[in-house]
Order: sequence, then structure tokens, then C-alpha cells
Amino acid sequence: MSKKMKANITCSKCRNSQDFYLYRTLWIEVPENRDLVLSDKVNYFKCNSCGYEERLQFPFLCTNSEKKYAVWFEPYHDAQIDIDRELYKKHSGENSYFARAPRIKDWDEFKKMILELEKSKSEGDVNVSEGASLAFQDFIDEIKGSVISGASARALNPIPILTSILFLFIPMVDFLTDGDIDLDEGYFTLLRMIVFGTFGYLAWFYFQARKKIFLFKMQNEIVVWALAFGAMLFNPFIQVHFEEEAWILIDLLSILLISLCVKDCPVIYRFLNRAIKSIK
Ligand SMILES: [Zn+2]
Repeated sequence: MSKKMKANITCSKCRNSQDFYLYRTLWIEVPENRDLVLSDKVNYFKCNSCGYEERLQFPFLCTNSEKKYAVWFEPYHDAQIDIDRELYKKHSGENSYFARAPRIKDWDEFKKMILELEKSKSEGDVNVSEGASLAFQDFIDEIKGSVISGASARALNPIPILTSILFLFIPMVDFLTDGDIDLDEGYFTLLRMIVFGTFGYLAWFYFQARKKIFLFKMQNEIVVWALAFGAMLFNPFIQVHFEEEAWILIDLLSILLISLCVKDCPVIYRFLNRAIKSIK
């Protein structure tokens, strides 16, 4: 079946927000679905409040199991597609049409690609029985269902995340072990700059994600505020002063907050997943 996912969309005209179901997978061997794409009516949003209409720039996959091709519409880089693609490779081989599905950024190019693939793949090529291909589709949907719940629009860069965690971790270790790591004023100035930059970057990332499309509106808003507050505490311009014990607590909370964002950083996320699997 074609898969839809619920999202909370903010009207770009009047800022009214409403729930809307977006296609993430669309079976275009079904003529109505194919028409939906070719007539620009897929993921087409209409505002309940002001009546404004637009086709949303949301990444989704078109598949045709009869002619065996698949194409992604990917208007902006979607890290979830990288993850999906790895899954397809693992479960159906590098050469399966799911794993090789092209990722097209431009909408008109995307439609052109569908028409070209449609023409080049004659139905005579199909040698898989319908039952088998349907079972395969179900399997794909199952994978998609399980990964879509954590979908993120864009991917975070791992470098600021890892650097910040390291810089926050060292004073904590020093404090907890009563160690004598010599951390001078220069270290803390550098720490402030790095953590300030990282919080700023993360706050901006989640703010943008919310503007584009946000799946968990409340949660996202709290995250943005918490990150902005973190940036304020660490800002190197007007230094905030606390006792050392208080800073250790702030460091710990900051590490936790930054770690929460790892779910939107596929590089670290995949590494951790593999590490956990290898331990098991
Ligand atoms: Zn509106």
C-alpha cells in the first residue's frame, strides 16, 4: 500500500497550523496515483483558515512494482533516505530497484524521470510472480513504517556535537576524580565558544526543521528553547558566572541535551547502532 504520514503543517501565508497527511510512498502503477503526481496534486496542502494552496516540498518515493522502478523526489537532502537505502540494500540486494532508485531534486526533472522509466521498462521484462512482488512490497512497507516515525528532514553534522561533548566531559572528569588536569582560563574560553556555537547551530537546525515541517510540534519547540537557553549560558561575550558545582551540573545537562540530538545525526546514530549490535 502507499504510505502516508501525519504531519503538522504551518500555512506559509497565515501561520495557521493544521494536521495533514503526506505521502511518503506512492504506488504509481495505480493510475489515480500516477495522475496525482503528474498533475502536481501530490502532497498538495490547502489551508483551512485562509484557503492558501501549495504543493509541499516533501521527500517521497514513487514505486511501480509492475514495471519495477522506483524514484525519490528529494527537494532537500533527507538523511532518512540514506538509511532507507541501506535497508533496501541489506534486504533485497544492491541491484534491487529500490536500492538503486534515483534521487531527484527538481520537481519537473522528477516527473520527466518517471515518464522515461515508464517508457524504458516494458512490461515484458517482469519475471517475478505477482504474489512474490506483493510480498516484497509489504516487507518494504513494514520497514518504512518502523523507520518513518523517527523521520528527520535534514541531517546534523557530527563534528560540533562530538567536540562539544568532549570539551564538556573533561572538566566533569576533573571535578569528579579530584584530578589535577590543569584547565586554565583559556580552556574555558574555548569551551564557551565551542558549546555556544554548537547550541546555536542545533537551535537553528530544529527551528528550521519546524519551519519546514514538524512532526512533533511541542517537543520541537521545547528543544529549540532549551538549545537557545544553552547557547545563552555558554555565550563567550557576556560571561555568566556560577559556582564550580553548578557548572558541573550544567555541563552534565548540556551533554544530555546535545546527546538527544544524535537521533538526527545519521553518522553517529548508525555508528552507535552498530556498536550496540556488536556488543550484543
Ligand atoms: Zn493560511
